[in-house]
Amino acid sequence: MKETTFHKNEQFEVVFEDLTHEGFGVAKINGFPVFVADALVGERALIALTKVKKSFAYGRMVFRYTKSPDRVEAPCRFFKLCGGCTLQHLSYPAQLAYKQKRVAEVLKRIGYLENITVCPTQGMGNPWNYRNKSQVPVASVDGQLEIGFYRQRTHQMIPMDTCLIQSETNDQILQWIKQISSQLGVEPYDEQKHTGVLRHIMLREAKATGEVMVVLVTRTKVFPEGQALVKKITKRYPMVQSIVQNINPQKTNVILGEQTKLLHGRKYIYDYIGSVKFAISALSFYQINPIQTKVLYEQVLHYAGLTGNEVVFDVYSGVGTISLFLAQKAKAVYGVEIVEAAVENAKQNAKLNGMDNVRFEVGKAETVIPQWICSGIQPDVIVVDPPRKGCDKHLLQTMLTASPSRMVYVSCNPATLARDLQILTATSDYKVKEVQPVDMFAQTGHVETVALLKRNIV
Ligand code: SAH
Repeated sequence: MKETTFHKNEQFEVVFEDLTHEGFGVAKINGFPVFVADALVGERALIALTKVKKSFAYGRMVFRYTKSPDRVEAPCRFFKLCGGCTLQHLSYPAQLAYKQKRVAEVLKRIGYLENITVCPTQGMGNPWNYRNKSQVPVASVDGQLEIGFYRQRTHQMIPMDTCLIQSETNDQILQWIKQISSQLGVEPYDEQKHTGVLRHIMLREAKATGEVMVVLVTRTKVFPEGQALVKKITKRYPMVQSIVQNINPQKTNVILGEQTKLLHGRKYIYDYIGSVKFAISALSFYQINPIQTKVLYEQVLHYAGLTGNEVVFDVYSGVGTISLFLAQKAKAVYGVEIVEAAVENAKQNAKLNGMDNVRFEVGKAETVIPQWICSGIQPDVIVVDPPRKGCDKHLLQTMLTASPSRMVYVSCNPATLARDLQILTATSDYKVKEVQPVDMFAQTGHVETVALLKRNIV
């Protein structure tokens, strides 16, 4: 391979050609890719290289000569420090178009899937304040108890009073908890010394019912100001139906510990996705954008084409949200998930909704699905919603052998989606009929995609 001839601090005039999902503009210098923050496609700029690697480099903007028509002023004053929202400087319609284009390109480049219909990204009416879960570290800054976020790639805490993608209710309650914790003399956690008490505050708002859960993560079991804090929170915010102390005594970056103690109200708060009710506990996984979760699940339901007579497999079922949503329109739904606690949640939620046509099993999908098929359960529809690394190879083969009339693939990573769709269609009768990106994480580069595969009837 040719040696890289580029050097740190060298300057170049470039035109940006692409945007990564982390929000870096991509320019090429004689084919050599350079990643630059705060740069958009089409912009011409003078850049300086900051870090040169073998096959790519990072650079910084020295001067921007032209501005993309899609560029907007990022409304959050923490935009460059926080690193949570990487696309705030791109207008929302352009974000949606970017996500659609990226999915189509990745399907082509990695999955060799040409001429696939990738529909326009389903976006949000209001792409702000959509998150239902807030999770902030607590620390002492200049002798004051503060909440905020860690400056990108550091553990330096920046105090923050509002997050624009966060629920406004959560934001207000957080500020109140900060204020009274400070008044009551709660000792903030010190990461370096591993001393102090309050480490994190986590809030969850159930948008459909208005109920809020507060989780106070402490280093110690002893939490002297706990009850006084509870009184002050619930007096001012009666929608707080649950306050939980989570104890995390470890020196770790992991936020939650294993032990929880109920300080007020119920262990659960209740929420609805469409007409399905869910009980959410402090430790359970739950989708963070409730508006778009409904949009996503409606899309899954639409692609599943259920009439009431179908047997459905929901693979990688988590707490069973997709299973229960589909169970409303299916004869039977079978969910499989590797995390036991999630399956327990799923079973409880099925009970809560009086649904007796769903069954959940704990185990590896690649082991459990062949067993179901061996025992004579024939799926009409298989839905998969794997983690970022995509589906297990053996599972994909089992899915083909099971021969359902439809498969619906929900993906949070276009690259593994493309790889798996290629495997599923390369030597089989299945064809990708349509692909629908859904914007679950507005202002960020993340894209969620649903794909429909159908068996060709010859
Ligand atoms: N469908 C769910 C969650 C999908 S996230 C929802 O919409 O909320 C992916 C899930 O796959 C996680 O819950 C993870 O625990 C589970 N998982 C990961 N590897 C697995 C495997 N080999 N078999 C079964 N489940 C697995």
